[in-house]
Amino acid sequence: MNTTCNYRCSYCTQRFVDDRKQWAKDLPGFVAAFTSLPGDWEIKLSGGEPFRHPRFLPTVADLVAGGLRVSVVTNFSDKPETLERFAHLTASRPGIVSASLHLEYVQVDAFVARAAWFAELFAGSFCVTCVATRDTLPRLADLQERFAAVGVRFKVQPEKQDRDVIDYDDGELLQIVALGGHNATGRVAPSFTGRPCWAGARYVIVDHRGAAWRCYPSRRVRAESLGNVLDGSFRLRLGPEPCRYAYCNCTVPQERGMVDTADAGELRPATA
Ligand code: SF4
Ligand code: SF4
Repeated sequence: MNTTCNYRCSYCTQRFVDDRKQWAKDLPGFVAAFTSLPGDWEIKLSGGEPFRHPRFLPTVADLVAGGLRVSVVTNFSDKPETLERFAHLTASRPGIVSASLHLEYVQVDAFVARAAWFAELFAGSFCVTCVATRDTLPRLADLQERFAAVGVRFKVQPEKQDRDVIDYDDGELLQIVALGGHNATGRVAPSFTGRPCWAGARYVIVDHRGAAWRCYPSRRVRAESLGNVLDGSFRLRLGPEPCRYAYCNCTVPQERGMVDTADAGELRPATA
């Protein structure tokens, strides 16, 4: 939706983006492109902070009206009535709300209370995520318990610097795996190089300019472009193709059976 965000987290992967004020502009064009996709698609909106986009809720409404399931990744800082409106708009076909807990910005008690409140009213799947920095890692097991006590799933995400998982030591890697690994996949920095993957056919990354990529690693190295959804050049792939990347940070294809994750290689195996 946008690169704009009301936070400036120290570990934000977008903090070196030249312009943190970029917005998706041709929203009717995006909605038309997504609603004309063949089959049944879920659109996950992210940013920056997508709720900061001035057309966020109207776009959610348009996507839902087009029959799409809408999910969101958010820092969960918007007003309760705005979050409630999102839940209401998506109630007929709810997706996933991933609320990122940014410990540099929020007060934990208030965030837990807000998460418990939202979990009650949202019809879809709701989880809280937190980046496992070296500073936060010792706190995450307690936080996982606190969220579990109010019925909310808590997932951790490895910290990345320069686009790669930071140089955790073995003890830290084991702690992350004990917390469920990256987004509860059980893995930290898996590698599926050479394995057939449906990314590009059933999973696509689209940026705020409409540029479409097979997956995050493909976008990172500007390989395997799928065209642009706004200018008519967008083409989905027809089936699985071998993974070309050493490290996969796309948890959706891993979780939804688009790539065989059995016996995955780990770029950063814990050896202790
Ligand atoms: S809330 Fe997310 S997008 Fe915003 S600064 Fe933090 S990590 Fe970056
Ligand atoms: S396994 Fe991961 S990195 Fe490889 S093509 Fe699929 S989504 Fe991309």
